[in-house]
Amino acid sequence: MLFTILRRTLRIALLVITCASTAAQGQEIKVTLLGTGCPPAVMNRFGPSILVEAGGLKFLFDAGRGALQRLNQVNVKWRNVQGVFLTHLHSDHVVGFPDLWLTGWLTPGRDVPLQVWGPRGTKNMMSHLEQAYEYDIRIRLYDDRASPDGVVILAEEIADGFVYEKSGVKITAFDVDHTPIKPAFGYRIDYGGRSVVLSGDTRVSENLMRHAQGVDLLIHEVAAPETFQRAGTPLERAKSVVAHHVTPEQAGEVFSRTKPKLAVYSHIVLPTATEQDLIPPTRKTYAGPLEVGEDLMVIEVGEKIVVRRPTSPSS
Ligand SMILES: [Zn+2]
Ligand SMILES: [Zn+2]
Repeated sequence: MLFTILRRTLRIALLVITCASTAAQGQEIKVTLLGTGCPPAVMNRFGPSILVEAGGLKFLFDAGRGALQRLNQVNVKWRNVQGVFLTHLHSDHVVGFPDLWLTGWLTPGRDVPLQVWGPRGTKNMMSHLEQAYEYDIRIRLYDDRASPDGVVILAEEIADGFVYEKSGVKITAFDVDHTPIKPAFGYRIDYGGRSVVLSGDTRVSENLMRHAQGVDLLIHEVAAPETFQRAGTPLERAKSVVAHHVTPEQAGEVFSRTKPKLAVYSHIVLPTATEQDLIPPTRKTYAGPLEVGEDLMVIEVGEKIVVRRPTSPSS
């Protein structure tokens, strides 16, 4: 027990990284990994979704499976989330959206419209969701007296270079390379001199590296080829999936070239990947600070970067 506590204390202590003193004091970006998985339906890594809090605002980046459960686990009310930024429209990144939108509207209740930013196709998806759930929306409005404003989606289609600014928080969308899925975005969040970059799904992307130079926190996706071998995936299929993403060696090169203060893996393909599958190959090309993300991991980017792993199991 004592050993466990000591080890945990040591771990937290080791994960405190001092940031540049030019940033404003007391301002931080808080990042919570709600889901670190991908399509396979597993309990320990829910679908991709990242909560970013800064300047009193809260945003979700992607809305994968279980995003609403995870939000509840971290005691964030859906009504307090300003909006959702989508990286791309692959289903693993959006299947949790109807649950957030409709269940979150009903309970605990939302009475303000929701902004959704995403690539071309987002408006179409949102209007079709409104059609698909038209029956429930109608019933909830008159039977449950749910707020008419709370179910409204304000969808906006954005492109490379789009900037959102409010309360000192700046969010920039940039193209990444998830060909043939185009466009696919990464996002950069700036606040109070702190910076966070989320890769979305991408191959090695020069544009991402441009946006992530010297960033405080770089959260990057990764695909470990060994996991496909272990799962018995046919070689051609495995190669094709891995080719849409980055291997740990490639991610290490990205980290070496961008020099983030901390690099964290999320969107882990396949979700069965172990630290052994990810860390040693990354170390061939990168020697800096690196963490393998897990659901409910919190990363506070302030004067220091502090990583908190969940104390209880995520499932
Ligand atoms: Zn994905
Ligand atoms: Zn994808």
